Amino acid sequence: MKNENEHKEQGIGIAPGIAIGPAFVIDQTGVPVPEYEIPAHQVEKELKRLHSAIAKTQRQLSQLKQKAESLPAGAEDIALLLEAYKGMLSGSRLVRGVEELIRTSRINAEAAIQRQIAAIKASFAAMDDAYLAARADDVKEVGVRLIRHLLQQHYNPFADVPAGSVIIAEEITPADTALMNPEHVAGFATVLGGAEGHSAIMARALGLPAVSGVGGLMQGVKAGDTVIIDGREGHVVINPDAATLHHYRQEAAKKDREANKLKSLRNVPPLTTDGKAVVLQANLELPRDIDAALESGASGIGLLRTEFLFMNRPDLPDEDEQFETLRKLVHKLGGKPVTIRTLDVGGEKLATAFGDAVGESVNPALGLRAIRLGLKEPKLLDTQLAAILRASAHGPVRILIPMVSSVAQMKQVRARLLQVERRLQRRGIKIPNIPPLGAMIEIPAAALAADALAKVCDFFAIGSNDLTQYTLAIDRGDDRVADLYDPFHPAVLRLIQFTAAAAWRANIPVSLCGEIAGDRRATALLLGLGLRELSMGPLRLPAVKQEILQLAMPQAVAFAETVMAQTDEAEIKALLQKGAIAAEENVRDKRKRGA
Ligand code: PEP
Ligand code: MG
Repeated sequence: MKNENEHKEQGIGIAPGIAIGPAFVIDQTGVPVPEYEIPAHQVEKELKRLHSAIAKTQRQLSQLKQKAESLPAGAEDIALLLEAYKGMLSGSRLVRGVEELIRTSRINAEAAIQRQIAAIKASFAAMDDAYLAARADDVKEVGVRLIRHLLQQHYNPFADVPAGSVIIAEEITPADTALMNPEHVAGFATVLGGAEGHSAIMARALGLPAVSGVGGLMQGVKAGDTVIIDGREGHVVINPDAATLHHYRQEAAKKDREANKLKSLRNVPPLTTDGKAVVLQANLELPRDIDAALESGASGIGLLRTEFLFMNRPDLPDEDEQFETLRKLVHKLGGKPVTIRTLDVGGEKLATAFGDAVGESVNPALGLRAIRLGLKEPKLLDTQLAAILRASAHGPVRILIPMVSSVAQMKQVRARLLQVERRLQRRGIKIPNIPPLGAMIEIPAAALAADALAKVCDFFAIGSNDLTQYTLAIDRGDDRVADLYDPFHPAVLRLIQFTAAAAWRANIPVSLCGEIAGDRRATALLLGLGLRELSMGPLRLPAVKQEILQLAMPQAVAFAETVMAQTDEAEIKALLQKGAIAAEENVRDKRKRGA
């Protein structure tokens, strides 16, 4: 039956797959607010916290406004309203009142906002004017946005999601994604967000189909509407008719069949047709993914992102807590190796407990993040190094340092590692072997200095996600420039090739653990560029293995040579689409024809 209400919204496909289910619209209101007293000496800090939340809210409103402006005609009011909301964040009665309450009543910013909203509402109500009553709702909307930014994610917005729901939200942070239970959530769509941010990476790891950058989403979907998410094409279909539903159900069933077929490869060793071994490992975002990693046939964990230890909590985990979590993981891996990366917060990956210290920079991606933060706050780094060292006594562990840009940083980290080990010894904790210490190569400077870095590193892991971001100067989480984000840009590929060659020259292991490691179109190219170790989201591993099983190493090398000879990114994309085998046949045919 034709459903007259069916309509489609276009966004960016950030995690493949098809999800069909009732919409669960994340309500920006109704957030539970804690109230507590602020000691006199902390008042300035609380005001700073408020102003940081105001800045974040303003930024978010600007982005939403830009989205609204690109909507078809008729949506102008939304943009105007959002502009008005922004206005309410500077010098307004709301902001002035909240500042006053923090100073005089010494209460936390969230509670002060709630009190001020109530006071404004009461005074407008006393005037008995419909226009003012509507303005009171606007004040509340702005206040609640502020509260959400202040609280960050101390509460779970998905706690009451009915099974099979499709989440619809303005924005989903990596911390939000970590709270999603794939058994309850079928997929999600958002207004903001690019394809390479951490929410996208987590969605892919969890196997949750997702689409971001959908301008008219919040206006187009109501709670309970049936929604289809096509995470490959970036489509969101709302209230589909019977024919559309049937089509997508068939597509979903086909994808399930393909995934099941690939599962049979689990125990097949990843060898090329000429017998060359490739190491395939899994990236781990959350400990709960460990079963998926083991089932995928991964030979170990090539990247353990430890940010999960710091997410969705107001405090920092101590050494014992970190050690216990890592020990359990190492134990569960039963002798398979794990590469543990030290904390990589900052940029788009914010951890609540760091408050403003991390998120304040004008350019957070270029600011105090990852190992820069670790070396500025040595206690943070030392605690983590101690926990990792202790875990290394329970199985094979390597330590990976994110965002390295210089030899000096690696020397400092190694010195700290040795010092931490001595301190553990003094506490009577013996570490049998100091684990290998390696650097993420994800800043162009690190790639270009790879020969020097190889002298102070035991291994390299190439982070193609950030390497792309920093080489092309494209914010990986911004949907407005997502079309320019291209990990197959010749400049990025040259840096990958150079890094792999430097590692080979120095005889140290090198792996690649960015998202292209899990893209089967890139497998031949990456092998041809000199990589023999790839680490990826566990759900993507079987398809990459299938690619390897069909490929001979000389074919991969020839393919990489053809790709690297291109000067136009579009040509590279076309070659990747065609694949190494077809490309080789093409060259052979051309030769035959004497072209
Ligand atoms: C990368 O940058 O490629 C990477 C693997 O690290 P992350 O995505 O966690 O920044
Ligand atoms: Mg990175």
